[in-house]
Amino acid sequence: MLIGAHVSVSGGYSKALEYAQSVEAECIQIFAKSPRQWRGPVPDSDAAAQFREARASVGGVPLFTHTAYLINLAAADDIMWEKSVLALADELTRANILGVDGVATHLGSNPSGDIGLTASRIASGIVAAFDQCGDCSARLLMENTAGAGATFGGTPEELGAVVRASGLTAEVLGVCIDTCHAHAAGLDVSGNRGWEDLLDSMDRECGEGRVGLIHANDCKFGRGEHKDRHEWIGDGFIGSAGFEAMLNQERLSDICAVLEMPGEVPEKDRENIARLKTLRTQGQS
Ligand SMILES: [Zn+2]
Ligand SMILES: [Zn+2]
Repeated sequence: MLIGAHVSVSGGYSKALEYAQSVEAECIQIFAKSPRQWRGPVPDSDAAAQFREARASVGGVPLFTHTAYLINLAAADDIMWEKSVLALADELTRANILGVDGVATHLGSNPSGDIGLTASRIASGIVAAFDQCGDCSARLLMENTAGAGATFGGTPEELGAVVRASGLTAEVLGVCIDTCHAHAAGLDVSGNRGWEDLLDSMDRECGEGRVGLIHANDCKFGRGEHKDRHEWIGDGFIGSAGFEAMLNQERLSDICAVLEMPGEVPEKDRENIARLKTLRTQGQS
């Protein structure tokens, strides 16, 4: 696996690349626009072209974007749903211009509790967003949630229901596993057995080759508590053994793991990247 972090683009896209190098990130995730707003400035194709060039000059570091938190493709309300589809299409367009490897998104929430209906609503939203984006080559990655409240996508079964309802191939639609969310939702990511079971369920429900990204975050709370509070690697309830097992999964060997840690930059990223790299080396020996 490659190990990296979510990095800020506040100083411009190219600054994000410099920062990533300074903390020895092998892959990065960014927000293509503010994650707390529906709309962003019109995508600047000159800035994007410069960024593509800068990225190529550092060996084409694998790059992912994360969509806005406001998007709710599961919304029962039609106006909210349409707004979400537009926002997702905008994210896909920005990702396309930047030439990213994948776009991680939360699916949203629906109080009905009906998995089939919610999955088809989400799936039609995803298909509509790709239609609006037009000639989009970016791959969308549905992120699992901590399973709190009515949020959708806490289990491989729910993610699989969206995959089937969408009819989209693995090249277009995949999955992002957030380790903290999986643990909070009650899934076992604390050791090898748990990881094998989780990846088996993903393969069974979503189809092989759907996992396209890992958010490698430890968790401040216990398994199944539905509390999404990220902790530094090894300091939380998943623990070092869970991450060492993750780094050893054959099925994840070509996948990127990005950290989303609380704390001050650059310490949080430099330290946690180093911790994961140590666990990766231990696994190989
Ligand atoms: Zn996320
Ligand atoms: Zn989280």
